[in-house]
Amino acid sequence: MKKLEYYPWSPKILDNALKEYTKGKIPTAYLELTAKCSYCQCLYCDSKSGMANRGELTFPEIKKLILNLKKLGLEWLFICGLGEPREENYFFDILKFLKDQKIKVSFFTNGLAYKEEDIKLLKKYNANIILKLDTFDEKVFDKILCKKGASKKIYDFVDKLIQNNFIKVNSDNETNLAFSIVATKLNLDAIPSVINFCKKHNIFPCVDEMEYTHRAKLNYKELAVKDGDLIELKSKIDKILGYSYKRTLCQGIIPSLHINNVGKIIIDKRTGLSCDWFFQEDPAYVEIGDVRSDNLSDVARNMNEYRIKKLPEIETLFLNRTSIISAGGGTKPSTWYKRYVSVMNAIKKK
Ligand code: SF4
Repeated sequence: MKKLEYYPWSPKILDNALKEYTKGKIPTAYLELTAKCSYCQCLYCDSKSGMANRGELTFPEIKKLILNLKKLGLEWLFICGLGEPREENYFFDILKFLKDQKIKVSFFTNGLAYKEEDIKLLKKYNANIILKLDTFDEKVFDKILCKKGASKKIYDFVDKLIQNNFIKVNSDNETNLAFSIVATKLNLDAIPSVINFCKKHNIFPCVDEMEYTHRAKLNYKELAVKDGDLIELKSKIDKILGYSYKRTLCQGIIPSLHINNVGKIIIDKRTGLSCDWFFQEDPAYVEIGDVRSDNLSDVARNMNEYRIKKLPEIETLFLNRTSIISAGGGTKPSTWYKRYVSVMNAIKKK
């Protein structure tokens, strides 16, 4: 059976992004749009989400940022981390602006803040979506979301996406819809039925392990799944899909700038990567710039210098990880270290 990929994470897009990055471009950006998330309080939440923070970027600032990033070669914007993007009032204005600028977009969402008419806009703006869907057991999902009735709203949203033919699969078997499925002790047994649903509807299952960070720390002991159970889950997933399931690495981890909701450009303190959740532990980051005041080319140069300095001391950090499903994108972190080194060496030579 041909392997289904989530289009924004497809290996060919990652290869192209890394190629562009070695040429001195910044093809990708991560944007934490807002900390707002008021319709649920997931037990495994890895972010300080809830209320908007003071000083979050405004729509005019985001437009200016996108135009500045475009001059550096921006092709993809990943709205990821912190709160729920649909709760930002100008969310669809951003999608429209990105489409007008021919920049592709992918975002995580809980599916709880959408109105009926939004589906048409999601289609119109070519959205690529990673939607929270941990289980089809309503009671269990409400418990995970900490909100009675929330699961039903998410299921309705899925139905509407399907009924309105939102899901598109291109000739390379890449889809524009993924489900974010976080394995916990609560939903572990119900995950195979979500995978079956994904298979039937051409949805990429993005299976994650719980991260030991923020609110999730409080529930980690009670909910985290043991390695043996994850191995068993992985083999069930492989059997259902008919191939060895692997989550490809998001291209934003290396060839990108990571901008938080208040406009700071941040990198992972330990590794210099643009994703501080890569190791699924408490994020530790350093600020390397501010989109409100700094020249983005200078910031990108500083980021590269930080990375090149860090590389020799972080090899063991990657080698010591043995991810089962999600950490490192489902691929051994050591594989990513090799890729990281080769890209940074190419940049160093220039
Ligand atoms: S995991 Fe996502 S949807 Fe759930 S509370 Fe956190 S930010 Fe909100």
